[in-house]
Amino acid sequence: MGSVSDEVTTAVEQLAWRMAREMLQLEPDAGPRSGLPDADARQLWLAALTSLLAIRDSAEVLAASAALSAAQRGADYPAIGDAAGMTRQGARRKWPGLAGLSDERQRKLRWWSRRGDQFTQCARAVLATSGEGPRLAILRERLDDIEQASPAQRIDAFDLALVDAHTVAVSAPAPAEPIAERASGLLAALTADAYAAMSSHSALAIREDLACGTAGCPSEPIVELWRPDFGHRPVPACREHAVEALGQPGTRLVAAYQPDVALSVFAEAHPNTRRRRGRP
Ligand SMILES: [Zn+2]
Repeated sequence: MGSVSDEVTTAVEQLAWRMAREMLQLEPDAGPRSGLPDADARQLWLAALTSLLAIRDSAEVLAASAALSAAQRGADYPAIGDAAGMTRQGARRKWPGLAGLSDERQRKLRWWSRRGDQFTQCARAVLATSGEGPRLAILRERLDDIEQASPAQRIDAFDLALVDAHTVAVSAPAPAEPIAERASGLLAALTADAYAAMSSHSALAIREDLACGTAGCPSEPIVELWRPDFGHRPVPACREHAVEALGQPGTRLVAAYQPDVALSVFAEAHPNTRRRRGRP
């Protein structure tokens, strides 16, 4: 019985010859042993060489993807290096940026298990109360994708939905109807909270130069808002001024500097939303 590595060699060889024959447009049974003239055999071997190196390149791409997937599921550099037959430093040089991915994935999974249902319901409510448009159509497709995704793909489907929900929530014209306006505002707050909860804390730490956008306010800004009266750029706001501004139509939460802050500010600005949800 042959070993697995023998089988790998045989399988790679067969694949390489198949590619070579296809490259040269030869018959399926053509090969190096079929008594070809030297000139033809030479072409065949050269095509095999090209094919084998293409297979090696594909394997490199697949290996990088496997290292990434393993890292997202908790493999550290020593484990990846061990699997790849190299040192930890060697693995880090070959595939940089894999440290901490498992933490990021865990943060995402935690947010989605806690808020995923609320997010999808809210996005559906926005779609039901808004008009039609290309961005809304994309968001609708993304929500359908989440429902159809396998559990393993779901987190990626959520990621895409989040991007489109953010676009819809901050760029669609604010609906005049109060229920639609609130759904749209909540969707913006949810996406802001998702990004705050999923980013690493170091990415959120440096806020020294920021001040509340309300002139003369000494309070620490905790969120960013888009306010029609400030032009369409994000403006930092402290809790008090954020709550006050969110009472004005067309104002949107677009970012939060800490997890949970966006939703608590939104709930404070819309006390009836909290009562309707019936949750603490
Ligand atoms: Zn302020």
